[in-house]
Amino acid sequence: MNKQTKYIFITGGVVSSLGKGIISASIGKLLQARGYAITIQKFDPYINIDPGTLNPYEHGECYVTMDGMETDLDLGHYERFTDIHTTRHNSITTGRIYKTVIDRERRGDYLGKTIQVVPHITDEIKRRMLRENEPDEQLDFVITEVGGTIGDIESAPFMEAIRQLRWQLGRNAVSVHLTYVPYLKAAEEMKTKPTQHSVKELQGMGIQPDILVLRTERHLDDQMRMKVASFCNVDLDCVILSEDMPSIYEVPVRMLEQGLDTAILRKTGLPVGESLSMQSWYDFLDRQRHAEGQIHIGLVGKYDLQDAYKSIRESLTLAGIYHGVKTVLHFVNSERITADNVSEQLADMAGVVICPGFGQRGTEGKILTAAYTRTHNIPTFGICLGMQMMVIEFARNVLGYPDANSREIDAQTPHNVIDLMEEQKTVTQLGGTMRLGAYACDLREGSRAHEAYGGQHTVMERHRHRYEFNNAYRNRYEQGGMKCVGVNPAADLVEIVEIADHRWYIGTQFHPEYSSTVLHPHPLFLSFVKACVGNG
Ligand code: GLN
Repeated sequence: MNKQTKYIFITGGVVSSLGKGIISASIGKLLQARGYAITIQKFDPYINIDPGTLNPYEHGECYVTMDGMETDLDLGHYERFTDIHTTRHNSITTGRIYKTVIDRERRGDYLGKTIQVVPHITDEIKRRMLRENEPDEQLDFVITEVGGTIGDIESAPFMEAIRQLRWQLGRNAVSVHLTYVPYLKAAEEMKTKPTQHSVKELQGMGIQPDILVLRTERHLDDQMRMKVASFCNVDLDCVILSEDMPSIYEVPVRMLEQGLDTAILRKTGLPVGESLSMQSWYDFLDRQRHAEGQIHIGLVGKYDLQDAYKSIRESLTLAGIYHGVKTVLHFVNSERITADNVSEQLADMAGVVICPGFGQRGTEGKILTAAYTRTHNIPTFGICLGMQMMVIEFARNVLGYPDANSREIDAQTPHNVIDLMEEQKTVTQLGGTMRLGAYACDLREGSRAHEAYGGQHTVMERHRHRYEFNNAYRNRYEQGGMKCVGVNPAADLVEIVEIADHRWYIGTQFHPEYSSTVLHPHPLFLSFVKACVGNG
């Protein structure tokens, strides 16, 4: 870590779900555009070691970093906005902090001492906020987002750590607080009182915010901003509005127009400089605004919740924009798909994504989908469990094994075309033990996947699964017309299957959605959406 590193702390008040992740990612984007090296990290106050064991209904999708950490979905925003690669050091929970401290205590590192929240837990939080685990990093800014809202019992140690760090770091630390300004319809007024209370609460913890970002559904006039500034001891130009936007990707530009980045630079004593390289971002927004026409894509999955397939949704939307169309996504609950209604459920879809997942629930609907889209020449993208369902369907309906299945779903299946990986057989703990993170995948020349990747020989893709394609059946698939065109060279695991004689039918054992960014949408999503546009 270089000595001049600056630290930005982002907290939220009044209510949750204000979009702190988007604001953090936007700040990162803008500082990066001014030539500064940044990283963004998230501290979550829950006790789970990581969100890997959480049901998506709890916190939405589990995002996976290149180095195999299962993390909060906000890390997906960080990567999509800024193109940085986050690591296991960018996603911390209360559970991890406590585990580190308790392991140390058991080792005897604190021998003779009483271990307490202050200073031991707060010291460990500070160490991680300062990224002392990454001593070689050369960063100008470390942006730290704290999950939850201030005032929650469980976020208190994080607030205390920020208070101490601000004292210790002086001008090298900036506190950004995000609040909500509601509109009261009956009074026809915007109300700033909750913001004043939230700031007071923060001040009560010894943290004076430098910058306030006010989330509003309506425009707030200058007089209201002035009122907030004077009640909260914040400069007027540090009261920033974050109004509802048609797209989250507009947010950095709105922040830029109000000088959020320059306010941070001024506070930390860094030169604003002349150059700001946002041209490619503006070009993207231009494309987004001018996207004409629509394509309808079905998301076949079991979690009826926007955030459950966040990265897939964003990847499809981004790929659509690059092809000049607006992608309209339709969630199709795989539990409700039957042989009788599958054509109706998927009617009017230009393409279908069969989503990842775990467990038996909804898998038969995914298999019916795979059969329908395969036989009706509808572009289909199967991801992880989705790919496994494509493989099972092919075995049942083409290769002649009507009882084929995955061992995850039917432990007794005689045709285990998807089976537990060898090294998984001895695993007893569920947390953090899947095949996780980036592995190499060699692409077969002449395949559609190879073409989609622009002719690259080997690509690195992120994984999150325990089961895999069973190589005992590989030849039969090849002969039957489902080609294993992507293979991990070290373990000989099948990573990509495709049917050449189809408009677009590809399944990936890995998760390409984790590596699609605004400026670099993933090649497989680009290729898939292109096929959908052709089919729309
Ligand atoms: N449940 C499957 C496995 O563990 C697929 C996982 C996923 O879709 N992420 O292999």
